[in-house]
Amino acid sequence: MIDIAELTEEQAKAELQRIAAEMAKSDIAYYQFDAPYLTDAEYDSLKRRNEQIEAKFPHLVRADSPSRRVGAPIKSEFSKVSHRFPMLSLGDVFSIEEVDDFILGVKRFLNTADTPTFMCEPKIDGLSFSARYEHGKFVQGATRGDGTTGEDITANLRTIRSLPLDIKGPVPDILEVRGEVYMSKADFFALNQKYESEGKKTFANPRNAAAGSLRQLDSRITAERNLSIFAYTWGEVSNRVWDSQADFFEHLRAWGFPINPLNKLCHSVAEIEQNFARIMEIRASLPYDIDGMVYKVNSIELQERLGFLTRTPRWAIAHKFPAEQAITTINNIRVQVGRTGALTPVADLEPINVGGVMVSHATLHNEDEIKRKDIRIGDSVIIQRAGDVIPQVVGVIKEKRPADSVEFEFPHYCPECGAHAIREEDEAVRRCTGGLTCPAQIIERLKHFVSRDAFDIEGLGSKVIEEFYRDKIIQNPADIFTIEQRNQPEVIDLFSPLSANSFRLQNREGWGIKSVDNLFKAINAKRTISLPRFIYALGIRQVGSATALLLAQNYGTFEAFMNDMINKDTAKLVSIDGIGGAMAKDIVEFFAEAHNLKTIHDLLAQVHVEPYVDNTRHDSPLTGKTVVFTGTLEHLTRQEAKSKAQSLGAKVAGSVSKNTDYVIMGADAGSKAAKAKELGVQILSEAEFLELIK
Ligand SMILES: [Zn+2]
Repeated sequence: MIDIAELTEEQAKAELQRIAAEMAKSDIAYYQFDAPYLTDAEYDSLKRRNEQIEAKFPHLVRADSPSRRVGAPIKSEFSKVSHRFPMLSLGDVFSIEEVDDFILGVKRFLNTADTPTFMCEPKIDGLSFSARYEHGKFVQGATRGDGTTGEDITANLRTIRSLPLDIKGPVPDILEVRGEVYMSKADFFALNQKYESEGKKTFANPRNAAAGSLRQLDSRITAERNLSIFAYTWGEVSNRVWDSQADFFEHLRAWGFPINPLNKLCHSVAEIEQNFARIMEIRASLPYDIDGMVYKVNSIELQERLGFLTRTPRWAIAHKFPAEQAITTINNIRVQVGRTGALTPVADLEPINVGGVMVSHATLHNEDEIKRKDIRIGDSVIIQRAGDVIPQVVGVIKEKRPADSVEFEFPHYCPECGAHAIREEDEAVRRCTGGLTCPAQIIERLKHFVSRDAFDIEGLGSKVIEEFYRDKIIQNPADIFTIEQRNQPEVIDLFSPLSANSFRLQNREGWGIKSVDNLFKAINAKRTISLPRFIYALGIRQVGSATALLLAQNYGTFEAFMNDMINKDTAKLVSIDGIGGAMAKDIVEFFAEAHNLKTIHDLLAQVHVEPYVDNTRHDSPLTGKTVVFTGTLEHLTRQEAKSKAQSLGAKVAGSVSKNTDYVIMGADAGSKAAKAKELGVQILSEAEFLELIK
């Protein structure tokens, strides 16, 4: 080997290339085949030589240099990455009967009696990532985020040694490989042990540890944690050269990505069930955590025909492992008040480890549930947790009941504000009637407002919201955006109720100039917000983020939505596929309340709500059009036709109105066709529709 001091630039360049290739080869051998190719000493010596050459010729540092696996110093925040192809989540099922139903649904949709082949993959309990390659070079890494927008974690992903940085061989010009980042059980235990000995807070489970490690602003910390990946799907691809999931795995393998060795093709429900049972048996002995199986229709042609529901693909599903259970004691039963005033009973438990997570409380759902299961304070109970949901009480072990136990009396008054708590006839839930005089409801609304899927304001956690509410710094959502202004000493107005409690945040306990400054920055960064997030943040009863997205897609702007709601014009609202009558009623009622309109008015003075931009398709004749299907179609099933239209940017409505652009009429069409004629809406035959979407 040439002495580094004597290397010419030409030689250095060649040498750096050789080292990068050697080390990449070794990484693949190690991570993909578990077969070391270089000894640790050889690996380290190559790494050192690489560093020394780079120090001498800094301009020659390669994009795929092993030195870039070590991370870089801290960044102030992650920038956003919008996914050109959304990163979708999967629907969950918990039993083989539901899997059977899912497969039946697939067959019905495809109008076939044959069960398609499924790729069955262990569901890694980690964090989804997307890695973008241009001409074979790794250029960008992103988290899933909300599915449409994630965080830029390029520097952090780069530190994961099993991720190829430079793909050799024929590869599409643009290729997004997606998969899961995880921490092995062994690395998790080692990390926690280290943290414990250093007196630091430990992680609850490997997934949290992986998430905490991946979302580090200082990627050097990510580099120190031993993270690994499995690749399993793709995002944007310039030229897809595979025609099935199995074929895709072959390509991934050739490109050097780690693939889960337990992935398996199954051809029947029986085979799927067998495989599920087998994996469950070996689950505990696997070096990483899995929380179920994923089934994907193997053929991509069929996947494309099946298409998507609102948020999930119709051709794949997650079959979760059954919940894990444990036995513990109920120390107390409390009643919590939620943002809509719902009173929810919660059991305080003797803390216990359930499947690797410490559990200290469980939900009891509602008062009927407590009665039905006859749950009392002091009881020994079986609790279970499944996935991310709050642990539940499955049942009481009556033999262990203490002699002096008494039934729990559910309060008829709100424990937070003392107002009457009433229960409507057809409801399971008892609600506080205090409305905005009930501090619990306001606090919960404020927490919802700043939560992750809503305004997502960093630094305004539950504790801070509670504190700021009690000290009258924040009384309603709009106040969040005026804190900074009110924090200036010169604007303190003794006659204003808020200023009367005038404050200098930086003088509060636990705050300093820097943390106050960071809070203001975090708040100001959210003065522009997307329409779905804004609608969700309002906290309208029954309107979760999926519904908020539907509303945004259908109305386009907040003004259009609000105008219709204020005028109680629900024609468009009820025509949206996925919005039922009860939900529509709740939405209209929300806008009928003066205090809600005031909140919205105050908010709009502070924030800018972006009109909804649909980035799925802009170039189809159906983009932005509202279509209605009626009658029996010949070449497509109704479901298939609907999803086809949606994937081309159309909104599919259930009934004909003046907002309808096309009515697609099959055989035996009924009243909808007549209505379309009456309103002068354009009617298309199935053939014309197929021609239009070609
Ligand atoms: Zn109350």
